[in-house]
Amino acid sequence: MIHKYGPHIFNTDNKEVWDYIQQFCEMIPFINRVKTIYKGKVYSLPINLHTINQFFDKSFNPEEAKEFINSISDKTIDEPKNFEEQAMKFIGKDLYKAFFYGYTKKQWGCEPTELPATILKRLPVRFNYDDNYYVNPYQGIPKNGYTEIFENMLSASNIEVKLNTKFDSSWDLSEYEHTFYTGPIDSFFDFKYGRLSYRTVYFEKYVSDGDYQGNPVINYADPEISYTRVHEHKHFTPWESHDKTVYFKEYSKETLETDVPYYPKRLKSDMDIYEKYQNDVNNLNNITFLGRLATYRYMDMHHVIGEALDLIDKNY
Ligand code: UDP
Repeated sequence: MIHKYGPHIFNTDNKEVWDYIQQFCEMIPFINRVKTIYKGKVYSLPINLHTINQFFDKSFNPEEAKEFINSISDKTIDEPKNFEEQAMKFIGKDLYKAFFYGYTKKQWGCEPTELPATILKRLPVRFNYDDNYYVNPYQGIPKNGYTEIFENMLSASNIEVKLNTKFDSSWDLSEYEHTFYTGPIDSFFDFKYGRLSYRTVYFEKYVSDGDYQGNPVINYADPEISYTRVHEHKHFTPWESHDKTVYFKEYSKETLETDVPYYPKRLKSDMDIYEKYQNDVNNLNNITFLGRLATYRYMDMHHVIGEALDLIDKNY
């Protein structure tokens, strides 16, 4: 029940995906409520009326908060070209500096001006007290964990699983009717146009008695605190009861050759390289590139499943 690769809360707006995943597990409804700590104070996320009132020490109602944020947001930005501009346009400098600038520099290892605006668009801004981290209507945690999903998916008699068998470009794929490749796209081509940049994350594990932070995820916005967030796993399964607790401090760093890639950075220089690989992919037959690594996009679990189901619907 410990999410080995960081906190994962299944959420989607696609009923087909929601129904599909539940063939392999029982989902327990779960709403993710994340807090963030900035300069020693705890705030509500995603940015909502509570955050705005806490941060500016006000008691605005929704209309007043909208007017206020409108008055402090940067109106010189028409079409936000990067993460920073997206934030400045929608929430203004103070909230951006407090909650996004430091966290994002730690998470991505670069200036937010270098990052695409789409990363920030993942998070809503609300003028009410709704602190549900996601906007998607279907949200849950698999009752017996994510491993069970894969065990059930792979238990069909016509699926053979070979572990510890890393794809190698010397394989003769013409032996197969079709290949679905979900590894990193640059590795498929032996990095011939160079490496795409990714962030990886690593975790420091702690075990103690009781309750460490009283919430599944708390983010740390200050740049001086070197981890980005702390996840305490028993809070993802409130239907279970545990006297002890396991929690992790999450750190982010650049992905080296031996690290597991997590987050595609998609900097301008990456996208130039990616385009070259994608051109090569377009010239291949009987192979489909799918998922976060093979398409070099910041996809969630439900996006990956949704695209796989679409592909099957269209072709088979
Ligand atoms: N982010 C931030 N402060 C926060 C939470 C998120 O600056 O407290 C930014 C950060 O750049 C992050 C992005 O928003 O990478 C997307 O956040 P999300 O929680 O969706 O990231 P994930 O859970 O996929 O790591």
